[in-house]
Amino acid sequence: MPTLFISDLHLCSGRPQSNRSFFGFLEHEARSARALYILGDLFEYWVGDDDLRDPFNATIVAALARLVAGGVPTYLMHGNRDFVIGEAFARASGGTLVPDPTLLNLDGKAVLLMHGDTLCTLDLEYQAFRREARSEAWISNLLQQPLAERKAAVAALRRKSEQEKRGKSAEIMDVAPAEVEAALRRYGYPRLIHGHTHRPARHVHTVDGHSCERWVLADWYQGGSYLACDESGCRAVQLSGN
Ligand code: MN
Repeated sequence: MPTLFISDLHLCSGRPQSNRSFFGFLEHEARSARALYILGDLFEYWVGDDDLRDPFNATIVAALARLVAGGVPTYLMHGNRDFVIGEAFARASGGTLVPDPTLLNLDGKAVLLMHGDTLCTLDLEYQAFRREARSEAWISNLLQQPLAERKAAVAALRRKSEQEKRGKSAEIMDVAPAEVEAALRRYGYPRLIHGHTHRPARHVHTVDGHSCERWVLADWYQGGSYLACDESGCRAVQLSGN
């Protein structure tokens, strides 16, 4: 049974095609998985677990809970858009929050899981924002605001980030090769799986004489895609958009 990895679904009520792909994936492909890992940005944005009552959010959580009840352990890592997902979400969905990075032993092979944004160290502006926004003070300040205000604030932040992205080069928004190599060295030359950059690919890095695979997961803007790994290796599978 393969272990499946997905990220960057960016689910929101305004993207029905991705939502249909996701529900189909949970009911079919994911049902026979050994485990499912969601490596960040499951949602277009998440403003706090008190938004679990939102009908769209409730539908997603219920679909995840059905998968978990069907016997598929599901693990969730924060992305840069849903990093305030908390324990209430985990309890409701049956999923388990895992830190970024997480090092796994999968079929005897070391596998390092990351969302991927921490590898984009050439984007100094983003890294400065990330350091601020991941502080306990920033998060608790956010969560103290009324839900509607948080949603408005996040929408404004996203518009600002979209504008800034237009002025940034492709290299700046991709992973920094030196940072990838440093991570591979730090964790003992594992296979690396991450998302975030929306540049699905299989790369091979040679670090200190060790050959390391790096799989970049696809986003779900057009249909969906997942990575399936078992003892024979990993393969990327495109879901037909329906
Ligand atoms: Mn991301």
